Amino acid sequence: MAAARNKILVKTTLVEMDGDEMTRIMWQMVKDKLIFPHLDIKLEYYDLGLEKRNDTDDKITFDSAEAIKKYGVGVKCATITPNKARMSEYNLKQEWKSPNGTIRAALDGTVFRGPILVNNIPPAERAWQDPIHIGRHAYGDVYKNAEIAVPGPGKGEIVFTPADGGETVRLTIQDFKGPGVLQGIHNTDKSIGSFAKACFSYAYDLKVHLWFGTKDTISKTYDARFKKIFEEEYEANWKGKYEAAGIEYFFTLIDDAVARIMRDKGGILWACKNYDGDVLSDMLGSAYGSLAMMTSVLVSPDGHYEYEAAHGTVQKHYYKHLKGEETSSNSMALIFAWAGALKKRGEMDGTPDVVDFAEKLAKAATDTVESGVMTGDLLRVAIENPNNRKVNTEEFLDAVAQRLEEKLSA
Ligand code: NAP
Ligand code: MG
Repeated sequence: MAAARNKILVKTTLVEMDGDEMTRIMWQMVKDKLIFPHLDIKLEYYDLGLEKRNDTDDKITFDSAEAIKKYGVGVKCATITPNKARMSEYNLKQEWKSPNGTIRAALDGTVFRGPILVNNIPPAERAWQDPIHIGRHAYGDVYKNAEIAVPGPGKGEIVFTPADGGETVRLTIQDFKGPGVLQGIHNTDKSIGSFAKACFSYAYDLKVHLWFGTKDTISKTYDARFKKIFEEEYEANWKGKYEAAGIEYFFTLIDDAVARIMRDKGGILWACKNYDGDVLSDMLGSAYGSLAMMTSVLVSPDGHYEYEAAHGTVQKHYYKHLKGEETSSNSMALIFAWAGALKKRGEMDGTPDVVDFAEKLAKAATDTVESGVMTGDLLRVAIENPNNRKVNTEEFLDAVAQRLEEKLSA
Protein backbone atom coordinates (compact mmCIF):
# COMPACT_ATOMS: atom_id res chain seq x y z
CA MET A 1 0.00 0.00 0.00
CA ALA A 2 0.95 3.63 -0.53
CA ALA A 3 1.27 4.17 3.20
CA ALA A 4 4.22 1.79 3.39
CA ARG A 5 6.32 4.05 1.18
CA ASN A 6 7.60 7.50 1.96
CA LYS A 7 5.80 10.17 0.02
CA ILE A 8 7.85 11.86 -2.70
CA LEU A 9 8.76 15.42 -1.77
CA VAL A 10 7.97 18.15 -4.27
CA LYS A 11 10.44 20.89 -3.36
CA THR A 12 8.72 24.02 -4.65
CA THR A 13 5.10 25.09 -4.27
CA LEU A 14 2.87 24.28 -7.23
CA VAL A 15 0.15 26.74 -8.20
CA GLU A 16 -3.24 25.07 -8.45
CA MET A 17 -6.23 26.65 -10.19
CA ASP A 18 -9.54 24.94 -9.61
CA GLY A 19 -12.42 25.26 -12.06
CA ASP A 20 -16.01 24.46 -12.88
CA GLU A 21 -18.64 21.79 -13.46
CA MET A 22 -17.67 18.22 -14.39
CA THR A 23 -13.98 19.01 -14.55
CA ARG A 24 -14.15 20.38 -11.00
CA ILE A 25 -15.59 17.04 -9.85
CA MET A 26 -12.87 15.12 -11.70
CA TRP A 27 -10.19 17.53 -10.44
CA GLN A 28 -10.90 16.65 -6.82
CA MET A 29 -10.85 12.93 -7.65
CA VAL A 30 -7.50 13.26 -9.46
CA LYS A 31 -5.99 14.91 -6.38
CA ASP A 32 -7.51 12.47 -3.91
CA LYS A 33 -6.74 9.31 -5.86
CA LEU A 34 -3.53 10.09 -7.74
CA ILE A 35 -1.68 12.99 -6.14
CA PHE A 36 -2.16 13.18 -2.37
CA PRO A 37 -1.54 9.48 -1.64
CA HIS A 38 1.93 9.69 -3.17
CA LEU A 39 3.28 13.23 -2.96
CA ASP A 40 4.36 15.49 -0.16
CA ILE A 41 3.37 18.65 -2.01
CA LYS A 42 2.55 22.25 -1.18
CA LEU A 43 -0.21 23.63 -3.40
CA GLU A 44 -1.04 27.30 -3.58
CA TYR A 45 -4.75 27.05 -4.26
CA TYR A 46 -6.76 29.50 -6.37
CA ASP A 47 -10.42 28.75 -6.82
CA LEU A 48 -11.22 29.95 -10.33
CA GLY A 49 -14.71 28.45 -10.13
CA LEU A 50 -17.17 31.01 -11.49
CA GLU A 51 -18.75 31.79 -8.10
CA LYS A 52 -15.42 32.72 -6.57
CA ARG A 53 -14.44 34.79 -9.59
CA ASN A 54 -17.72 36.66 -9.26
CA ASP A 55 -17.26 37.15 -5.49
CA THR A 56 -13.75 38.58 -5.96
CA ASP A 57 -14.61 40.68 -9.04
CA ASP A 58 -12.27 38.33 -10.90
CA LYS A 59 -9.29 39.44 -8.80
CA ILE A 60 -8.55 35.80 -8.03
CA THR A 61 -7.77 35.11 -11.70
CA PHE A 62 -5.24 37.93 -11.82
CA ASP A 63 -3.75 36.74 -8.53
CA SER A 64 -3.35 33.22 -9.85
CA ALA A 65 -1.47 34.51 -12.90
CA GLU A 66 0.89 36.43 -10.59
CA ALA A 67 1.42 33.27 -8.57
CA ILE A 68 2.51 31.41 -11.71
CA LYS A 69 5.02 34.18 -12.35
CA LYS A 70 6.26 33.81 -8.77
CA TYR A 71 6.59 30.02 -8.61
CA GLY A 72 7.03 29.19 -12.29
CA VAL A 73 4.57 26.32 -12.71
CA GLY A 74 0.79 26.06 -12.43
CA VAL A 75 -1.87 23.48 -13.18
CA LYS A 76 -5.37 24.60 -14.13
CA CYS A 77 -8.79 22.98 -14.27
CA ALA A 78 -11.23 23.97 -17.03
CA THR A 79 -13.32 27.05 -16.29
CA ILE A 80 -16.54 28.55 -17.58
CA THR A 81 -16.20 31.58 -19.83
CA PRO A 82 -19.46 33.36 -19.01
CA ASN A 83 -21.99 34.22 -21.69
CA LYS A 84 -25.56 35.52 -21.42
CA ALA A 85 -26.92 32.16 -20.21
CA ARG A 86 -24.27 31.94 -17.47
CA MET A 87 -25.09 35.47 -16.31
CA SER A 88 -28.49 34.34 -15.09
CA GLU A 89 -27.45 30.79 -14.18
CA TYR A 90 -24.80 32.10 -11.74
CA ASN A 91 -26.38 35.49 -11.05
CA LEU A 92 -23.19 37.25 -12.11
CA LYS A 93 -22.29 40.89 -11.51
CA GLN A 94 -20.62 41.01 -14.93
CA GLU A 95 -19.86 38.83 -17.92
CA TRP A 96 -16.36 38.12 -16.62
CA LYS A 97 -13.64 37.65 -19.22
CA SER A 98 -12.22 34.25 -20.10
CA PRO A 99 -9.75 33.27 -17.33
CA ASN A 100 -7.53 31.70 -19.97
CA GLY A 101 -7.45 34.98 -21.86
CA THR A 102 -6.53 36.85 -18.67
CA ILE A 103 -3.76 34.42 -17.73
CA ARG A 104 -2.45 34.35 -21.31
CA ALA A 105 -2.27 38.14 -21.41
CA ALA A 106 -0.53 38.28 -18.00
CA LEU A 107 2.10 35.73 -19.06
CA ASP A 108 2.35 36.89 -22.71
CA GLY A 109 2.32 33.21 -23.48
CA THR A 110 2.01 30.84 -26.38
CA VAL A 111 -0.38 27.88 -26.14
CA PHE A 112 0.95 24.49 -27.17
CA ARG A 113 -1.37 21.56 -27.70
CA GLY A 114 -0.44 17.94 -28.17
CA PRO A 115 -2.31 14.65 -28.45
CA ILE A 116 -2.20 11.83 -25.91
CA LEU A 117 -1.38 8.76 -27.97
CA VAL A 118 -2.54 5.24 -27.11
CA ASN A 119 -2.06 2.22 -29.35
CA ASN A 120 -5.72 1.18 -29.45
CA ILE A 121 -7.07 4.48 -30.69
CA PRO A 122 -5.73 5.06 -34.19
CA PRO A 123 -5.61 8.66 -35.42
CA ALA A 124 -8.07 9.37 -38.23
CA GLU A 125 -5.01 10.03 -40.41
CA ARG A 126 -3.17 6.72 -40.65
CA ALA A 127 0.19 8.24 -41.55
CA TRP A 128 0.47 9.92 -38.12
CA GLN A 129 2.66 7.71 -35.93
CA ASP A 130 4.17 10.37 -33.70
CA PRO A 131 2.41 13.32 -32.10
CA ILE A 132 1.75 16.49 -34.04
CA HIS A 133 1.82 19.41 -31.60
CA ILE A 134 0.38 22.80 -32.38
CA GLY A 135 1.76 26.10 -31.15
CA ARG A 136 -0.88 28.78 -31.51
CA HIS A 137 0.04 32.44 -31.52
CA ALA A 138 -2.53 33.82 -29.11
CA TYR A 139 -2.33 37.52 -29.90
CA GLY A 140 -3.83 39.82 -32.51
CA ASP A 141 -5.00 39.21 -36.09
CA VAL A 142 -8.79 38.79 -36.38
CA TYR A 143 -9.09 38.26 -32.60
CA LYS A 144 -8.36 41.92 -32.02
CA ASN A 145 -9.83 43.50 -35.11
CA ALA A 146 -11.91 46.49 -36.13
CA GLU A 147 -14.77 45.76 -38.48
CA ILE A 148 -17.16 47.94 -40.40
CA ALA A 149 -20.39 46.90 -42.07
CA VAL A 150 -20.27 48.98 -45.24
CA PRO A 151 -23.78 50.25 -45.98
CA GLY A 152 -23.23 51.33 -49.58
CA PRO A 153 -20.85 52.99 -52.05
CA GLY A 154 -17.78 54.67 -50.57
CA LYS A 155 -14.03 54.34 -50.03
CA GLY A 156 -12.59 51.84 -47.55
CA GLU A 157 -9.14 52.88 -46.33
CA ILE A 158 -6.40 51.83 -43.95
CA VAL A 159 -4.63 54.68 -42.15
CA PHE A 160 -1.59 54.90 -39.86
CA THR A 161 -0.88 58.10 -37.93
CA PRO A 162 2.63 58.07 -36.36
CA ALA A 163 2.81 59.18 -32.72
CA ASP A 164 5.95 61.25 -33.43
CA GLY A 165 4.11 63.51 -35.84
CA GLY A 166 5.65 61.88 -38.93
CA GLU A 167 3.77 61.49 -42.18
CA THR A 168 0.43 59.71 -42.13
CA VAL A 169 0.19 56.60 -44.31
CA ARG A 170 -3.10 56.01 -46.10
CA LEU A 171 -3.99 53.18 -48.46
CA THR A 172 -7.22 52.36 -50.25
CA ILE A 173 -8.54 48.90 -49.54
CA GLN A 174 -11.59 49.07 -51.75
CA ASP A 175 -13.73 51.54 -53.63
CA PHE A 176 -17.12 50.12 -52.72
CA LYS A 177 -19.81 50.28 -55.40
CA GLY A 178 -22.38 48.79 -53.00
CA PRO A 179 -22.74 47.27 -49.51
CA GLY A 180 -20.03 45.04 -48.08
CA VAL A 181 -17.72 44.55 -45.11
CA LEU A 182 -14.35 45.92 -44.07
CA GLN A 183 -11.83 44.67 -41.48
CA GLY A 184 -8.61 45.98 -39.95
CA ILE A 185 -6.18 43.68 -38.11
CA HIS A 186 -2.75 44.05 -36.57
CA ASN A 187 0.14 42.38 -34.85
CA THR A 188 3.32 43.60 -33.16
CA ASP A 189 6.97 42.65 -33.67
CA LYS A 190 7.22 42.10 -29.93
CA SER A 191 4.41 39.57 -29.82
CA ILE A 192 5.54 37.76 -32.97
CA GLY A 193 9.05 37.67 -31.52
CA SER A 194 7.87 36.09 -28.25
CA PHE A 195 5.83 33.59 -30.23
CA ALA A 196 8.85 32.63 -32.32
CA LYS A 197 11.09 32.26 -29.23
CA ALA A 198 8.47 30.14 -27.46
CA CYS A 199 8.07 27.83 -30.48
CA PHE A 200 11.80 27.33 -31.07
CA SER A 201 12.32 26.63 -27.41
CA TYR A 202 9.35 24.25 -27.03
CA ALA A 203 10.27 22.20 -30.12
CA TYR A 204 13.85 22.03 -28.86
CA ASP A 205 12.65 20.76 -25.46
CA LEU A 206 10.55 18.07 -27.15
CA LYS A 207 13.30 17.35 -29.72
CA VAL A 208 10.83 17.55 -32.59
CA HIS A 209 11.01 19.46 -35.86
CA LEU A 210 9.49 22.92 -36.00
CA TRP A 211 7.24 23.79 -38.94
CA PHE A 212 5.84 27.21 -39.65
CA GLY A 213 3.60 28.29 -42.50
CA THR A 214 2.13 31.63 -43.48
CA LYS A 215 0.56 33.10 -46.61
CA ASP A 216 3.54 35.32 -47.35
CA THR A 217 3.18 34.96 -51.13
CA ILE A 218 -0.09 36.89 -50.94
CA SER A 219 0.45 38.93 -47.79
CA LYS A 220 3.85 40.31 -48.69
CA THR A 221 4.06 42.68 -45.73
CA TYR A 222 1.93 41.20 -42.91
CA ASP A 223 2.59 37.47 -43.22
CA ALA A 224 6.07 38.12 -44.58
CA ARG A 225 6.91 39.84 -41.26
CA PHE A 226 6.10 36.65 -39.36
CA LYS A 227 8.36 34.67 -41.71
CA LYS A 228 11.21 37.15 -41.32
CA ILE A 229 11.02 37.29 -37.51
CA PHE A 230 11.05 33.48 -37.28
CA GLU A 231 14.05 33.31 -39.63
CA GLU A 232 15.96 35.89 -37.63
CA GLU A 233 15.23 34.10 -34.35
CA TYR A 234 16.39 30.80 -35.85
CA GLU A 235 19.63 32.20 -37.25
CA ALA A 236 20.44 34.15 -34.09
CA ASN A 237 19.63 31.62 -31.37
CA TRP A 238 18.79 28.12 -32.59
CA LYS A 239 20.57 27.02 -35.77
CA GLY A 240 23.51 25.41 -34.01
CA LYS A 241 21.38 23.80 -31.31
CA TYR A 242 18.89 22.41 -33.82
CA GLU A 243 21.63 20.95 -36.02
CA ALA A 244 23.29 19.34 -33.01
CA ALA A 245 19.97 17.86 -31.88
CA GLY A 246 19.15 16.55 -35.37
CA ILE A 247 15.95 18.54 -35.68
CA GLU A 248 15.09 21.09 -38.33
CA TYR A 249 13.24 24.35 -38.74
CA PHE A 250 11.09 24.19 -41.85
CA PHE A 251 9.21 27.14 -43.28
CA THR A 252 6.70 26.70 -46.06
CA LEU A 253 3.52 28.23 -47.42
CA ILE A 254 0.58 27.45 -45.10
CA ASP A 255 -1.25 25.52 -47.86
CA ASP A 256 1.82 23.39 -48.42
CA ALA A 257 2.16 22.79 -44.66
CA VAL A 258 -1.45 21.56 -44.50
CA ALA A 259 -0.95 19.25 -47.50
CA ARG A 260 2.31 17.85 -46.11
CA ILE A 261 1.00 17.30 -42.60
CA MET A 262 -1.59 14.85 -43.95
CA ARG A 263 1.18 12.60 -45.27
CA ASP A 264 3.81 13.12 -42.59
CA LYS A 265 4.52 10.64 -39.85
CA GLY A 266 4.44 13.35 -37.16
CA GLY A 267 7.00 14.26 -34.53
CA ILE A 268 6.46 17.92 -35.28
CA LEU A 269 5.61 21.14 -33.56
CA TRP A 270 3.47 23.07 -35.99
CA ALA A 271 3.63 26.79 -35.27
CA CYS A 272 0.40 28.44 -36.40
CA LYS A 273 -0.78 32.00 -36.66
CA ASN A 274 -3.71 32.75 -34.39
CA TYR A 275 -6.59 31.79 -36.67
CA ASP A 276 -4.79 28.80 -38.21
CA GLY A 277 -4.05 27.50 -34.72
CA ASP A 278 -7.63 27.97 -33.57
CA VAL A 279 -9.01 25.97 -36.48
CA LEU A 280 -6.30 23.37 -36.93
CA SER A 281 -6.00 22.46 -33.24
CA ASP A 282 -9.68 21.47 -33.28
CA MET A 283 -9.09 19.41 -36.40
CA LEU A 284 -6.15 17.62 -34.77
CA GLY A 285 -8.10 17.14 -31.53
CA SER A 286 -10.89 15.27 -33.24
CA ALA A 287 -8.50 13.38 -35.55
CA TYR A 288 -6.75 12.00 -32.47
CA GLY A 289 -9.98 10.50 -31.14
CA SER A 290 -11.55 12.73 -28.47
CA LEU A 291 -11.32 16.22 -27.05
CA ALA A 292 -10.23 14.56 -23.83
CA MET A 293 -7.05 13.27 -25.51
CA MET A 294 -5.56 16.72 -26.09
CA THR A 295 -3.19 18.42 -23.67
CA SER A 296 -2.51 22.11 -23.46
CA VAL A 297 0.29 24.15 -21.95
CA LEU A 298 0.82 27.89 -21.86
CA VAL A 299 4.51 28.83 -22.02
CA SER A 300 5.70 32.36 -21.34
CA PRO A 301 8.86 33.85 -22.82
CA ASP A 302 10.19 34.12 -19.24
CA GLY A 303 9.93 30.37 -18.77
CA HIS A 304 6.68 30.14 -16.80
CA TYR A 305 4.35 27.22 -17.46
CA GLU A 306 0.65 26.61 -17.01
CA TYR A 307 -0.71 23.15 -17.76
CA GLU A 308 -4.35 22.31 -18.44
CA ALA A 309 -6.69 20.13 -20.46
CA ALA A 310 -7.63 21.46 -23.89
CA HIS A 311 -11.33 20.70 -23.38
CA GLY A 312 -13.96 22.67 -21.47
CA THR A 313 -15.92 21.95 -18.32
CA VAL A 314 -18.03 19.18 -19.95
CA GLN A 315 -21.26 20.91 -18.97
CA LYS A 316 -23.63 18.25 -20.34
CA HIS A 317 -22.06 15.54 -18.20
CA TYR A 318 -22.22 17.81 -15.15
CA TYR A 319 -25.96 18.31 -15.50
CA LYS A 320 -26.35 14.52 -15.64
CA HIS A 321 -24.16 14.23 -12.55
CA LEU A 322 -26.32 16.80 -10.73
CA LYS A 323 -29.40 14.74 -11.51
CA GLY A 324 -27.70 11.75 -9.90
CA GLU A 325 -27.18 9.97 -13.21
CA GLU A 326 -23.99 8.05 -13.92
CA THR A 327 -21.35 9.82 -16.02
CA SER A 328 -18.49 8.46 -18.08
CA SER A 329 -16.31 11.55 -18.37
CA ASN A 330 -12.72 11.18 -19.44
CA SER A 331 -10.06 12.53 -17.08
CA MET A 332 -7.05 11.74 -19.34
CA ALA A 333 -6.28 15.35 -20.25
CA LEU A 334 -6.64 16.45 -16.61
CA ILE A 335 -4.28 13.69 -15.46
CA PHE A 336 -1.83 14.74 -18.16
CA ALA A 337 -2.07 18.35 -17.00
CA TRP A 338 -0.98 17.25 -13.50
CA ALA A 339 1.69 14.96 -14.94
CA GLY A 340 3.01 17.75 -17.17
CA ALA A 341 3.11 20.30 -14.35
CA LEU A 342 4.78 17.89 -11.93
CA LYS A 343 7.35 16.84 -14.50
CA LYS A 344 8.22 20.46 -15.23
CA ARG A 345 8.33 21.23 -11.48
CA GLY A 346 10.69 18.28 -10.98
CA GLU A 347 12.93 19.38 -13.85
CA MET A 348 13.10 22.95 -12.55
CA ASP A 349 13.78 21.77 -8.99
CA GLY A 350 16.30 19.15 -10.07
CA THR A 351 14.30 16.37 -8.38
CA PRO A 352 14.41 13.27 -10.61
CA ASP A 353 12.06 11.32 -8.32
CA VAL A 354 9.30 13.86 -9.02
CA VAL A 355 9.97 13.61 -12.77
CA ASP A 356 9.83 9.83 -12.48
CA PHE A 357 6.52 10.02 -10.60
CA ALA A 358 5.06 12.30 -13.28
CA GLU A 359 6.10 9.89 -16.02
CA LYS A 360 4.61 6.94 -14.17
CA LEU A 361 1.37 8.85 -13.65
CA ALA A 362 1.03 9.55 -17.38
CA LYS A 363 1.98 5.96 -18.24
CA ALA A 364 -0.53 4.56 -15.74
CA ALA A 365 -3.23 6.54 -17.52
CA THR A 366 -2.31 5.44 -21.06
CA ASP A 367 -1.75 1.82 -19.92
CA THR A 368 -5.26 1.82 -18.47
CA VAL A 369 -6.82 2.85 -21.78
CA GLU A 370 -4.59 0.41 -23.68
CA SER A 371 -5.80 -2.40 -21.41
CA GLY A 372 -9.33 -1.70 -22.69
CA VAL A 373 -10.63 0.16 -19.62
CA MET A 374 -11.98 3.44 -20.95
CA THR A 375 -14.71 6.05 -20.83
CA GLY A 376 -17.54 6.26 -23.34
CA ASP A 377 -15.97 8.87 -25.61
CA LEU A 378 -13.03 6.55 -26.28
CA LEU A 379 -15.00 3.32 -26.59
CA ARG A 380 -16.69 4.77 -29.67
CA VAL A 381 -13.35 5.20 -31.48
CA ALA A 382 -11.15 2.43 -30.04
CA ILE A 383 -10.06 -0.58 -32.08
CA GLU A 384 -12.52 -3.35 -31.27
CA ASN A 385 -11.31 -5.79 -28.68
CA PRO A 386 -13.07 -8.23 -26.32
CA ASN A 387 -11.20 -6.57 -23.42
CA ASN A 388 -12.80 -3.19 -24.09
CA ARG A 389 -15.01 -2.10 -21.24
CA LYS A 390 -16.81 1.17 -20.65
CA VAL A 391 -16.34 2.49 -17.12
CA ASN A 392 -17.79 5.48 -15.30
CA THR A 393 -15.91 8.62 -14.33
CA GLU A 394 -14.77 7.34 -10.96
CA GLU A 395 -14.06 3.76 -12.02
CA PHE A 396 -11.65 5.03 -14.66
CA LEU A 397 -9.68 7.00 -12.07
CA ASP A 398 -9.68 4.03 -9.70
CA ALA A 399 -8.22 1.86 -12.46
CA VAL A 400 -5.49 4.45 -13.11
CA ALA A 401 -4.80 4.70 -9.37
CA GLN A 402 -4.33 0.95 -9.14
CA ARG A 403 -1.87 0.90 -12.04
CA LEU A 404 0.01 3.84 -10.59
CA GLU A 405 0.29 2.03 -7.27
CA GLU A 406 1.71 -1.03 -9.08
CA LYS A 407 4.28 1.07 -10.92
CA LEU A 408 5.38 2.91 -7.79
CA SER A 409 5.78 -0.24 -5.72
CA ALA A 410 7.52 -2.20 -8.52
P1 NAP B 1 -16.48 20.93 -23.63
O1 NAP B 1 -16.58 21.08 -22.18
O2 NAP B 1 -15.12 20.73 -24.20
O3 NAP B 1 -17.40 19.73 -24.06
C1 NAP B 1 -17.92 19.55 -25.37
C2 NAP B 1 -18.29 18.07 -25.58
O4 NAP B 1 -17.09 17.34 -25.85
C3 NAP B 1 -18.89 17.41 -24.38
O5 NAP B 1 -20.28 17.62 -24.31
C4 NAP B 1 -18.51 15.96 -24.62
O6 NAP B 1 -19.28 15.37 -25.64
C5 NAP B 1 -17.11 16.10 -25.17
N1 NAP B 1 -16.06 16.14 -24.12
C6 NAP B 1 -15.24 17.17 -23.81
N2 NAP B 1 -14.42 16.83 -22.81
C7 NAP B 1 -14.73 15.57 -22.47
C8 NAP B 1 -14.25 14.68 -21.48
N3 NAP B 1 -13.26 15.03 -20.64
N4 NAP B 1 -14.80 13.44 -21.40
C9 NAP B 1 -15.79 13.08 -22.22
N5 NAP B 1 -16.28 13.88 -23.18
C10 NAP B 1 -15.78 15.11 -23.30
O7 NAP B 1 -17.07 22.21 -24.39
P2 NAP B 1 -18.44 23.02 -24.13
O8 NAP B 1 -19.48 22.11 -23.62
O9 NAP B 1 -18.62 23.76 -25.40
O10 NAP B 1 -18.07 24.06 -23.02
C11 NAP B 1 -18.47 23.94 -21.66
C12 NAP B 1 -17.84 25.08 -20.87
O11 NAP B 1 -16.43 24.97 -20.93
C13 NAP B 1 -18.19 26.46 -21.41
O12 NAP B 1 -18.70 27.26 -20.36
C14 NAP B 1 -16.88 27.04 -21.92
O13 NAP B 1 -16.78 28.40 -21.64
C15 NAP B 1 -15.86 26.26 -21.14
N6 NAP B 1 -14.56 26.03 -21.81
C16 NAP B 1 -13.45 26.15 -21.05
C17 NAP B 1 -12.20 25.87 -21.57
C18 NAP B 1 -11.01 25.99 -20.67
O14 NAP B 1 -11.12 26.36 -19.52
N7 NAP B 1 -9.85 25.65 -21.15
C19 NAP B 1 -12.08 25.46 -22.90
C20 NAP B 1 -13.23 25.33 -23.66
C21 NAP B 1 -14.48 25.61 -23.12
P3 NAP B 1 -20.63 14.52 -25.38
O15 NAP B 1 -21.61 15.47 -24.77
O16 NAP B 1 -20.98 14.10 -26.78
O17 NAP B 1 -20.29 13.38 -24.48
MG1 MG C 1 -11.05 26.52 -32.12
